[in-house]
Parts: sequence; C-alpha cells; structure tokens
Amino acid sequence: MAEKSKVYIIGAGPGSSGLISVRGLQILQRADCVLYDRLIGRELLDIAPKRAELIYVGKEHTRRPPKQADINHLIIKNAHKYKTIIRLKGGDALIFGRATEELKCLADNKIDFEIIPGITAASAAAACAGIVLTDRNTASSVTYVTGQTVEGKPVNIDFKSLVKLSGTIVFYMAVGNMKQICQRLIKSGLAANTNAVVVANASLANQKIVKSTVADIAKKCERENIESPAVMIIGKKCFSWLQSQPLFGKRILMTRDSPGNAELACKLAARGACAISYPTFKLLNLTGTKKFKRIIGKIKNFDWVFFTSPTGVRLFFKAAEKLNKDARIFAGAKIACIGSETANALEDFGIKADFVPKVFTSDQLAKSFIKKYKPAGRKILLLRSALADSALAEKLKSAKAKIKQVSIYTAKKIENNPKEITENDIDWIVFASSFAVDCFFKDFKPKDISKKVKIASIGPAATDTIKKFGIKPTVESKEHTFDGLIEAMEKVINKKIKFS
Ligand code: SAH
Repeated sequence: MAEKSKVYIIGAGPGSSGLISVRGLQILQRADCVLYDRLIGRELLDIAPKRAELIYVGKEHTRRPPKQADINHLIIKNAHKYKTIIRLKGGDALIFGRATEELKCLADNKIDFEIIPGITAASAAAACAGIVLTDRNTASSVTYVTGQTVEGKPVNIDFKSLVKLSGTIVFYMAVGNMKQICQRLIKSGLAANTNAVVVANASLANQKIVKSTVADIAKKCERENIESPAVMIIGKKCFSWLQSQPLFGKRILMTRDSPGNAELACKLAARGACAISYPTFKLLNLTGTKKFKRIIGKIKNFDWVFFTSPTGVRLFFKAAEKLNKDARIFAGAKIACIGSETANALEDFGIKADFVPKVFTSDQLAKSFIKKYKPAGRKILLLRSALADSALAEKLKSAKAKIKQVSIYTAKKIENNPKEITENDIDWIVFASSFAVDCFFKDFKPKDISKKVKIASIGPAATDTIKKFGIKPTVESKEHTFDGLIEAMEKVINKKIKFS
C-alpha cells in the first residue's frame, strides 16, 4: 500500500531552536515540505532536509500577506503533493495559533494529521524571567489572554472575572493595547501596584525583560522601545528568582558577530542579565575556495589538524557535508583544539580532540603541544580564520613541524548605528576577540566610553588591543570562553577580584 500523506502540526516553541520537542525535531528532519510562520527561526528551518520545500506563510514581510483561506489551501495542495508535510507554528500550535481553521480544513478534506505540542510563549517567558506562574499559596490559576482581536482591536473579555480569580494572568499580543489593558484591569479592581513583567523575544538573543507595576508598565515599555512579540505577566507575587543571580539586571553590551552575540546572550539571560547585541563584524565563509576543496581530500596525509574556534569546526563540517564527505576524511590524522568550546563543537560531529591545552590561547596551544609531542618533521594542517595571528604557525615551524594553513573564514566590519547605544544603557561592554575590539573602536571613540562602564576581555590578545585604545579592562577571563567571561564579571560584581 502506498504510504499516505500526513500533515504534522508542530509547535516550534517561542524562538530559540533548542526549544522544539524531540518528536517535533525528528519529524522536521524528514520533512518533504514545511509551511512556516514569521517567528520561526532560520536555524530550525535548516534542520529540514535540503530537498524539503520551505514555504513562508507568515503575514509579515510580504507584499500580499496570505489570508487564512490561502494558508489552508496551501496545506491541502501540498498534502496532495508530498508525504510528510509540516505546518510549523510558533510556541504551541493550539494556543492563539488559529489552529481551528487549519484542523477543520484537514478534517473536511480527510487528510491524516498529527499534532505535536510546543512550548508556549507564556512558559518560555516565565522561565526566561525566572517567574513561577502558579504557587499553591498565592496563585492557584494562570490565565492566558489575548491582548488583541483578529483585527488588532482591544479584546472584549470579562476583566472583572479575570481579576476576581486572583491568579496569574498572561497577556499575549500585549504590546499594542498594553495601556488600555492595564487601565481596564485597575478599573476592574486589580491593585495598581500589582507586579507586571513584560518579556519580549523570550529565549532569543534580543530578549528584553521590563519589570514594573500594572500602573506603570506600559509607560516603562514605551521608554524601553519594547516591540512585539512580547507577553505581559501579571500577578501579586510575580517575583523573579533570577534576582538572586549576580548579573541580575546588568545591561551588558556584546560586540561579536550576530550569531556569537546570540550564543552569549542566551548564557547571560540565564544569569539574569539584560544582553544588548551590538554586532561589530560578520563572518565570511571561505570554504568555497579551491584551496579548501583541494585540501579536504588530502587531510589524511597530515599527522595533525588544528582547529582554533567552534566557528571553524562548524563551517568545516558543513562544507565537508556539502562535498559528501564525513568524519572519515581525517583517517589517522590527530586533532588539536585551542580550548574546550572548540573541542565541544568537534564532539557534536562525533570526534574527540586528541589534544586541548590547559590554557586556551594560541600561544599555550603551541607551547604545550610542542613540549608534549616534539613535532619536528610532523605534517600539521591549521584550519583557522584568515585573521588569526601568525604566532601559532611560527612557533610550530620553529619546532621544525611542516605547516600548511588553510583559511576557513574571515571577518569583515559591518556598518552600525552607534547612536542607538547610549551610556545610560550599559553597565558592561564585553569583548570576546581582538578583532571585535578594533571594529568597536571604529564606531566609538575611547573617550566616549564612560569610566562607569566596566570592560570585560576574553583573553590576553583582546586585552592588548583594548589597551591600545588607552582603556584598561576591568577584568580578563581566566578561561578564555564565554563561560569564563561570565565567571569573571560575576567575580567583579561580587567584589572578589581586581584585575591589574
Ligand atoms: N502559538 C503561540 C502564540 C501565537 S500569538 C504560542 O503558543 O506561544 C503571538 C504572540 O505570542 C505574540 O504576540 C507574543 O505575545 C507571543 N510570543 C510569541 N513568541 C514570543 C517570544 N519569543 N517572546 C515573547 N512573546 C512571544
């Protein structure tokens, strides 16, 4: 019997690709066609096989936004064309997701379907802000309410009954009508000083959390330029458990490329910080070059291959996959990594690094490698950024190793609007590479950085570049990783150390 078509209605979670369910991910990995909404991130779509047809059915960023009937029609059309069709929706598909229309259409057309739940925005926002939505002593209920009708008008709900419940209330689509919603809650008997927390872009790099009272939250959100998507959580005891975290409330400016900032932002948000992304450069992939393609078939001829960043590892394996190669290209070659993050990235591809120095700098990588392996006559391939310093290669050469270098990527400064960042905005600036420092100070003059702003450097190379601009970092991380940076900032905040 021919395999029947099936439409999977999958909740993708609120934004971060890690928040989809395992079942959702498994189905996505074998999709023939994915119909997706606006808030679905690129990373999730990349999980679908290359052959899958990706169809955007969001209502934003298109000249003629599709009507619900058009979306229904597209689902049915593709259900007749493909076997595994995914309707990928933000959060949970069954919460404010117009699922009724789509399910009715599938039922009417006798098309097989399965619903896979997702993490709804309220749960994600509560987790990101450290707020408990129910508590057996203070909040016996949580109510999800839409802040808008289909036409974008204020919603017609019974505010008095809502307030009477005395539980937690979460407003979705909260931005446009926030002021009116809060006024109506107060008019319906809710104390004006009840806590209100707005979480925008929960779980994403540009996540923002604003805390206030029902009386003041709308004004505060306007001042902070809060935009959709955001939820507003209201409750007497809406307390953030992240307040106990050392970075709680600290506004931290990140200066890497966008994906790097996004990775750091997730770690900072989990520590209660407010991460602000100021991408200073973008990476340019060089794995399409002839030189790279030539070397990939010859890797097994080397004794050692060196990776010095997680980015290098990921780009390398993506390019290898495109060329229909897998980890066997390394054959007997051993692998050295500059640090734990690079080694972890390698493990994601099923390979364990043979050598990682104790201190994660290229200087230490060279020194400790030479001491341990005495590489005279050994053939070593360095797969790195075109901007990496020459010291590693030179040290290995002076130990009489035979070095070949192939650049996997390079970086280029991007144009930015420094005016968006005002001094009052930030407590810390974080520099995670020397190149980021150079790019940053093309946009800002060192004298414009207030003495109140603290500076965190990821390691000696970035520190030297910061000093070149006449600024002394407040702290340099001991372990040259994002986690090391966070630990270093937390120690300063806890006043445990001074950096000299
Ligand atoms: N089905 C979705 C909700 C769709 S309605 C779910 O279960 O989450 C769209 C609304 O969801 C937005 O206006 C916003 O209120 C909320 N939302 C979606 N993603 C969000 C995010 N990352 N952070 C905060 N709110 C979000």
